Amino acid sequence: MRGFSERASVEQALAWLDNELDKLGQLSSESVALSQAAGRVLFEDVTSKVNVPDFNRAMMDGFGVLASDLQGASPENPLALNVVGECLPGQIFPEAISAGQAVKIMTGAPLPLGVDAVLPVEKTMSRGSTLFALAELEQGKNFGTVAEDICSGEVVLHAGRILRPQDLGVLSSIGHGSVSVIRQPKVRIVVTGDELLPAGAVPAGCQIVDANGPMLAALVHRDSGIANHPGIVADNREAILEALRDEVDVVLVSGGSSVGQEDHVPTLLAEHGDLAIHGIAMRPAGPLGMGRLDGRLVFLLPGNPVACLWGYDLFAGRAIRRLGGKSPEWPYRKISACLSSGIKSPTGRLDYVRIKYVCRKLEDKQVEPLARSGASVLSSTTRAAGFIVVPAESPGLDAGSEVDVFLYD
Ligand code: AMP
Ligand code: MG
Repeated sequence: MRGFSERASVEQALAWLDNELDKLGQLSSESVALSQAAGRVLFEDVTSKVNVPDFNRAMMDGFGVLASDLQGASPENPLALNVVGECLPGQIFPEAISAGQAVKIMTGAPLPLGVDAVLPVEKTMSRGSTLFALAELEQGKNFGTVAEDICSGEVVLHAGRILRPQDLGVLSSIGHGSVSVIRQPKVRIVVTGDELLPAGAVPAGCQIVDANGPMLAALVHRDSGIANHPGIVADNREAILEALRDEVDVVLVSGGSSVGQEDHVPTLLAEHGDLAIHGIAMRPAGPLGMGRLDGRLVFLLPGNPVACLWGYDLFAGRAIRRLGGKSPEWPYRKISACLSSGIKSPTGRLDYVRIKYVCRKLEDKQVEPLARSGASVLSSTTRAAGFIVVPAESPGLDAGSEVDVFLYD
């Protein structure tokens, strides 16, 4: 067993990671059907090749008229018009309309030539086959013009956009059935530990059930990666190396990341790839490691589940989000709150502190520390409303301090 002679600061570790991510850039593109594209990241700008609409269209049910025919029309002075036909959506009216004439027109129908306003049905009266206009109208009223929505040549969506449902509607309206998006990072989850039983088993004797695999898979999914967790990998070098060499963008190793007898992963990565960071001045997850194996980024996460969660959130999640074109920032809502009791924290070490609300009234925004140690007590993170981070340079936080709380909601 070796010890950690020196630990990197969280800033140094983040700087290394960000530099690697700058070198890797975002992943390549893939084309997906619109039905699969919500929430995906647009790979390139989309420019429309068409006008939407490509015709003037009625915005109301009523009558297509010439505005000049309606001068002086009012309920007291109804003006008669000769209705020469009917315009329906999707059909071109074959003739031009001239003075004294009108066409019945439905919302969305193309305007016939000559028509320069649409008189709403409420402003008309019919007697037999004769239509009477009951109001004046300005030219251009109640119809939409060519390209009022989208103009040919216009960039409708910019690269990097996280596609919203309405974006898919716009893409469809300009003739796209599919869209080019950034590929989702493929992530191999390598859960090590001979003491582990697979998810679904009941803990028995001195064996415990894998908590990290399901948790990491869900975190990867949240961060838009595609997780593969085929099962627990034995604590032996050949099996672990084979798993590390999976054809993926990111490898997450849970357990065996420290300096114990069964901790093979750091030495394997140092031998076959690059173990760039091992040991970070923070709690939990101090034994965390990061490096590269050929094209892959490899994260060595401690087996203790709280440390595994925190290590993922601080480093691995950031990488997965950035590779997939998303923001590196935490996907947690941040609020400002008042700390009800103090927290001590040695300088030089960053601390992750789970918190809970002091009372149920969230608007009080009073929080208290729930747990700072206990990296193996995962239920502390399910009882917590969120967490705060005590920076390395801070000797702790006094009761009454204003703190940023990241919420687990
Ligand atoms: P390790 O990092 O392998 O030294 O493991 C540290 C502690 O975390 C040990 O008590 C392990 O039994 C526990 N542990 C390791 N992997 C997991 C896991 N996947 N789920 C729950 N606990 C784990
Ligand atoms: Mg272990």
